[in-house]
Amino acid sequence: GAERTKNVLILMSDTGGGHRASAEAIRDAFQIEFGDEYRIFVKDVWKEYTGWPLNDMERSYKFMVKHVQLWKVAFHGTSPRWIHSFYLAAIAAYYAKEVEAGLMEYKPDIIISVHPLMQHIPLWVLKWQGLQKKVVFVTVITDLNSCHPTWFHPGVNRCYCPSEEVAKRALLDGLEESQTRVFGLPIRPSFARAVLSKDQLREELEMDPELPAVLLMGGGEGMGPVKKTALALGESLFDNDLGKPIGQLIIICGRNKTLAATLQSEQFKIPVKVRGFETQMEKWMGACDCIITKAGPGTIAEALIRGLPIILNDYIPGQEKGNVPYVVDNGAGVFTRSPKETARLVTEWFSTKKDELKIMSENAFKLAQPEAVFNIVRDIHDLACQRGPLANIPYMLTSSFTSLI
Ligand code: UDP
Repeated sequence: GAERTKNVLILMSDTGGGHRASAEAIRDAFQIEFGDEYRIFVKDVWKEYTGWPLNDMERSYKFMVKHVQLWKVAFHGTSPRWIHSFYLAAIAAYYAKEVEAGLMEYKPDIIISVHPLMQHIPLWVLKWQGLQKKVVFVTVITDLNSCHPTWFHPGVNRCYCPSEEVAKRALLDGLEESQTRVFGLPIRPSFARAVLSKDQLREELEMDPELPAVLLMGGGEGMGPVKKTALALGESLFDNDLGKPIGQLIIICGRNKTLAATLQSEQFKIPVKVRGFETQMEKWMGACDCIITKAGPGTIAEALIRGLPIILNDYIPGQEKGNVPYVVDNGAGVFTRSPKETARLVTEWFSTKKDELKIMSENAFKLAQPEAVFNIVRDIHDLACQRGPLANIPYMLTSSFTSLI
């Protein structure tokens, strides 16, 4: 008979650009693979339905990553399981009704969490609703290596780990091997499946057709030493003896409007483009020859798919630290915090050390996992099919949970 359209609720939060990008990647892959079989909702349930601190995660996060010491305390201070369990349990009790209403509104057959703080409370709600055997709950981890233990919850149907390293931690934290899968970080299909020629892209983006190009960015928020690096590159990529540039520079500032405005008012001796938040990152990456960025997992995974050698110039303490050895030890890039050193490296790659750039590019391609997002949605689809017909999930708003507290 005609199958009912299944509802998929993706829980994310706008902390940084990465979680939203992963959520949208999964949504798009569902649509490509299964069309109308699934109806997808991407929601920041916390922001919409709860009070502080859950609805304020985005702001607290931005505040804390700007004050790095504070973030270190927050990240490591909440690592022991008893601390975060207690904290989350208290919040869950307080906001249970609202979170529950938020979850129930979408009547999900499948819940996908792409956020480290969105396992415990939704799973509690499902349990109290007596729905944990009916609703498929999976976690898609979006940190490449060092991740916060709140990502791991033994009550999930699947935990998708981007690397073997993360899968090992999941097992140490009490998940069963049958619960974990390693496919890679989910990247938007527009990226993974894009077939683009560098020459065409450069024409479309109005770049110099010949000069090697370096892309400079700092995640969705434009973080890290972007300005100093831009100025250093402006000097070093200009050959004073020949009186002409040996490279061009693309700077993508993301949502950092102050940064974009400051850089736009600078004079450079080489061709430079300063951009704000770009929606077609695959084109900019496809048009460039290497990238400089903070160690954001999304940007790294995307750069690998495009085969771009990576200079990592910063990382958010805690969750991004492990991304550095992932890139460096696999020969796909280098780490340096110094803008001068960064400029020197790029200048060498564009002149005397072109072979080094080529080898790193090959290593990047080897690490790339463009099919990850498709493997993830196919596996979720299989899980949903194993549950049998999903119709008639008894969603009720008067739960035993809220009446208990
Ligand atoms: N991004 C984008 N447009 C921009 C800047 C960034 O689409 O102008 C995307 C980028 O392609 C990546 C994500 O935002 O997918 C950034 O994620 P990442 O994990 O690198 O860092 P975060 O911003 O989450 O700290």
